[in-house]
Amino acid sequence: MHAEIISVGTELTTGAKLDTNSQWLSLELAEIGIPVLAHLTISDDLDAMVAAIHAAADRSEIVLLTGGLGPTLDDLTREALAKFANVELVQHLPSFEHVKSMFAKRNRPMPERNVIQSMFPAGSEPLPNPRGTAPGIWMISTRPDGSQSRIAAMPGVPSEMKQMFRQQVLPRLDGRGQVIRRARINLFGVGESQAEEILGDLTARGRDPDVGITVHEATITLRITATAPTVDDCRNKIERAKTAILNRMGTLVFGVEDEELEHALVRLLLQRRATLSTAESGTGGLLAHRLTGVVGFESCYMGGVVVPTNAAKRELVSVDPMLIRQYGPISAEVALAIAKGCRQRFGTNFALAVSEWPEFDPDDPLASVPASFVALAGPKGTKVEKVQHFGDPAIAKSRTAKVAMNLLRLHLIQG
Ligand code: ATP
Repeated sequence: MHAEIISVGTELTTGAKLDTNSQWLSLELAEIGIPVLAHLTISDDLDAMVAAIHAAADRSEIVLLTGGLGPTLDDLTREALAKFANVELVQHLPSFEHVKSMFAKRNRPMPERNVIQSMFPAGSEPLPNPRGTAPGIWMISTRPDGSQSRIAAMPGVPSEMKQMFRQQVLPRLDGRGQVIRRARINLFGVGESQAEEILGDLTARGRDPDVGITVHEATITLRITATAPTVDDCRNKIERAKTAILNRMGTLVFGVEDEELEHALVRLLLQRRATLSTAESGTGGLLAHRLTGVVGFESCYMGGVVVPTNAAKRELVSVDPMLIRQYGPISAEVALAIAKGCRQRFGTNFALAVSEWPEFDPDDPLASVPASFVALAGPKGTKVEKVQHFGDPAIAKSRTAKVAMNLLRLHLIQG
């Protein structure tokens, strides 16, 4: 059994609006194990819509349409369904009352044209829409060979569509296939190919559960997809895969689902009742931005400064100008001095510092790989790490901020 999704609207085919309904519906269908064969996007054209419904209903047991149920002349989904089924539109009185009541609630007279929203292809079933005026349409179409295709038409407005899908359509999609559940594990500190190598057979194609790797700004996400007859079976499979991944990846793993490094770091700081401050040059405040985005950061993150110039390094975190002159601003020595000065200035247990780095062109084969330094100052001493900037300059800031947070995260874990 599979499904097709048809999005209706000229504003979609012209590119004025992005079709997000199909994406959402596909994810929902995947959750209940119904694969989607095709997404179709059709303009407000009656014949094109009828042809699209025919093609989809011939191929697939489930056809979901969104959009085109409104009262205006270009809203043609109900007409297209009637033409497809070769039936008339007939009025459904309870829907007429609903449309009328939606206008009464808003203290507005009902325009004549809205009567169309209580008209349905004969033999179809209206799907209530508590959020809007346009009820949906549920239809069963029988193919010449006697097999059936179930068709649901829902409003285009995403909030209305989502509610109608969950409340009205989903319960009608019986005979579901296998259940699918997903989980994500996030890690930092290795490249994609290295991660794949460590994971070995766990990422082999066709393995169940499936483990895929994606990378976003140097954070690696392992996506586990389990398919099984029940949710519990899926969960067991996912737990087993998670344990195997943790055994192999160890402290490279910092979080799950939407967790970022800053969430992991704030959690560790709070657990240890430790405080942190930051002084940034190259990352221009990105560390502060990320840390202050975490709920509860106020109890551990005491503040930060941006120190792009020698004067700022001197004035704000007391770096000796002689040191800068001797080693240059992009050096382990200066990064360490910034971290120490920052720790002192804010009176925190830990301070993280990030140096600047030279501008670079990743396409220039002759250019040497630029580097920056991140440094950590803590009660037991200091640590420094060189960050080499090969690859996309657009992610240099984000990657460097992550290296800095990871430096402290690993320090806290390793005690
Ligand atoms: P209404 O009764 O609100 O007119 P409708 O079924 O006629 O409902 P449309 O007129 O097709 O819906 O779309 C209403 C709005 O919903 C559009 O302006 C657009 O903002 C949004 N929308 C429609 N289709 C999609 C889609 N596929 N993805 C995302 N948004 C959509």
